Amino acid sequence: KLHNTILELKGNIRVFCRVRPLHPDDDDSGLETSVVSYPSSLESLGRGIDLTHNGQKYPFTFDKVFDHGASQEDVFVEISQLVQSALDGYKVCIFAYGQTGSGKTYTMMGKTEESEQKGLIPRSLEQIFQSSQVLSSQGWRYKMQASMLEIYNETIRDLLSANRSAGPDINANLGKQYTIKHDQNGNTVVSDLTVVDVCSIKEVSYLLNKAAQSRSVGKTHMNEQSSRSHFVFTLRISGVNESTEQQVQGVLNLIDLAGSERLAKSGSTGDRLKETQAINKSLSALSDVIFSIAKKEDHVPYRNSKLTYLLQPCLGGDAKTLMFVNIAPESSSTGESICSLRFAARVN
Ligand code: ADP
Ligand code: MG
Repeated sequence: KLHNTILELKGNIRVFCRVRPLHPDDDDSGLETSVVSYPSSLESLGRGIDLTHNGQKYPFTFDKVFDHGASQEDVFVEISQLVQSALDGYKVCIFAYGQTGSGKTYTMMGKTEESEQKGLIPRSLEQIFQSSQVLSSQGWRYKMQASMLEIYNETIRDLLSANRSAGPDINANLGKQYTIKHDQNGNTVVSDLTVVDVCSIKEVSYLLNKAAQSRSVGKTHMNEQSSRSHFVFTLRISGVNESTEQQVQGVLNLIDLAGSERLAKSGSTGDRLKETQAINKSLSALSDVIFSIAKKEDHVPYRNSKLTYLLQPCLGGDAKTLMFVNIAPESSSTGESICSLRFAARVN
């Protein structure tokens, strides 16, 4: 492929672990984690993380571990080449996995009002638009299309739909089917989904804000609801070189997954139980898909969830996948952290 910007990826699947800092007002001493080859500076950050629980040590290794000292920029530096490869015609998925409160949304979106704390979605888009300008001097013309959806209880919701109801009905895209199909070019087509041509970071920022508002009108407890659904941002990139007539078709998918926490078994009934089952089902379907791709199995079970079926063309083959596993440092989260690390270790 083009431009030689491609990292040699281990089986095209990588897993990064990120431990968020303790909240400033929290006097919990934190998890007994120690990053192997202790980081005196970020460069020396190890790839391992040890977690001690009830006197037992749980060691995990990843492609990269970011501890509480890692800034948004430190994280972005490690993924910018992966993002760039979408401009070269690759299909890329970047996921954030972890329990609610572990830093998934911070990692993906960050605090957009403070430039240092912007997450990897705005940073990736800035890079893509900047690079596409640079490449235009070499004859490249790009068409970019954005869509944003969430998957809640195995149902797709369009976050950019103009006539989305602002009322309490979270499934208010009336009469819309949002069925997922794959066309003969190997692209996902979601019927009725809003797809917007975008030419600048400003336009996408506007859409991201709109999507964020859409997510929050559904229920009064915004965080609660958004943590129960998967957020999928998709940027389709079609490039054609006016002098060489080369063509590229890349896709960048950035996914903020639903919280992976298990509910106390007794407490969950009714809608909550249904939500939890849907989340468990789709997260384990995702794990199964990535695991079978990594193991180069013949059959990849894409059809077991909406999320994996939606992303099928962008998972496997020569597509590139990066999974962030976000970890909360409080000792009260140790049990969930072990589960998250195990999930990630399985797909690693
Ligand atoms: P999640 O999306 O997994 O539920 P959030 O991203 O909302 O978690 O993070 C929970 C809280 O912790 C937020 O207030 C967020 O701003 C803060 N936070 C998360 N990660 C970091 C980080 N690396 N540095 C500073 N604050 C963070
Ligand atoms: Mg979140």
